[in-house]
Amino acid sequence: MRGFLSKIRNTTTRIVLCFPDMISETPFGFRVTKVKNVMILTLLVSSAAAVPIFSVETADLQPSPATATAFVYDPIYFKHLPGPGHPERPERLQAIVEHLEQTGLAAQGLSLHPKPDISEWIAAVHTEEYIRHVERLCADGAKDLDTGDTAICPDTYRVACAAVGGVLAAVDAVMDGRARNAFCAVRPPGHHATPSRGMGFCVFNNVAIAARYVQKRHGANRVLIVDWDVHHGNGTQEIFYHDPTVLYFSIHQYPFYPGTGSAKERGEGPGEGTTINVPLPAHTLEEEIIHVYSETLVPAAMQFKPDFVLISAGFDAHRDDLLGSLEMTEDGFATLTRIVKEIAEQCCRGRIVSVLEGGYTLDALSRSVERHIRALME
Ligand SMILES: [Zn+2]
Repeated sequence: MRGFLSKIRNTTTRIVLCFPDMISETPFGFRVTKVKNVMILTLLVSSAAAVPIFSVETADLQPSPATATAFVYDPIYFKHLPGPGHPERPERLQAIVEHLEQTGLAAQGLSLHPKPDISEWIAAVHTEEYIRHVERLCADGAKDLDTGDTAICPDTYRVACAAVGGVLAAVDAVMDGRARNAFCAVRPPGHHATPSRGMGFCVFNNVAIAARYVQKRHGANRVLIVDWDVHHGNGTQEIFYHDPTVLYFSIHQYPFYPGTGSAKERGEGPGEGTTINVPLPAHTLEEEIIHVYSETLVPAAMQFKPDFVLISAGFDAHRDDLLGSLEMTEDGFATLTRIVKEIAEQCCRGRIVSVLEGGYTLDALSRSVERHIRALME
């Protein structure tokens, strides 16, 4: 009995695991009930009145909230080489890492590296046929992913797997309580990748896989994905279009690549209403974008009550970006971060994993990431 009690003091999950064994080993039965924040284990002796044997604050059963912001980065992410002149180049990551080192931020975070053996989680979102197709094309030395406009090299498959592994490592750290939130400096990006089709520089949908992972591995019910990349995340939208457990919110330049993301696309069937698109014309001002977050995202998210928040953090909505034509600044990205943080603080103990998507002008990208991480650390 002592062993049993010491186990259940550790985590709520272990109560579930141990409980059936106890019933089968003893003539007694147990019932676990929760009243507000107190977990009560009741010993049931025959049909007589049940006797509560102890109670414990459920807060004691949760990992204490960490204060650190985790930072995911690994040199393997440099090995995806789309070729000379391509905007999604390793120098993007180099600029971010050097800037975070120069500003001292890199040393302040909890450093994480990719989780290995994550292929089953990639398969939770992508078809087996597509995954094998990417692997084969890379092994054959193909220059392009023939499912969409994505340049590849022989290392792309393992780098794309490592990008997923990095994001899943961040999810673990936040869910285990080692970090309060996390930023993942990974590439290739992911939000254009559909279950069977890589496109738009994306191979595997890092954020969508993380959403499925936090649901299935960590038991989160509802996941909010906030996508502030200048492009619409058509892949993420498609993956969760019929799924009411994932709220996908995107602001993006429109009309623009990839052509999807009109306000009429709101989800279908049980997922109707859990896709929210806010298409914006080129040169929309930062104030307007921040206003959309306050007036549209916040009420929707507070009603949805996410258990976990993911950010598709593309910084190509910056006014200096090579590809995008929205008018965000690094100040604006810090403000958006604080808005999303407030949602996470209200709903899910501040649990956020932010994942790099686009952003193609190096100094604007690295300064925006810095401000984003500083806001996550506040
Ligand atoms: Zn983008």
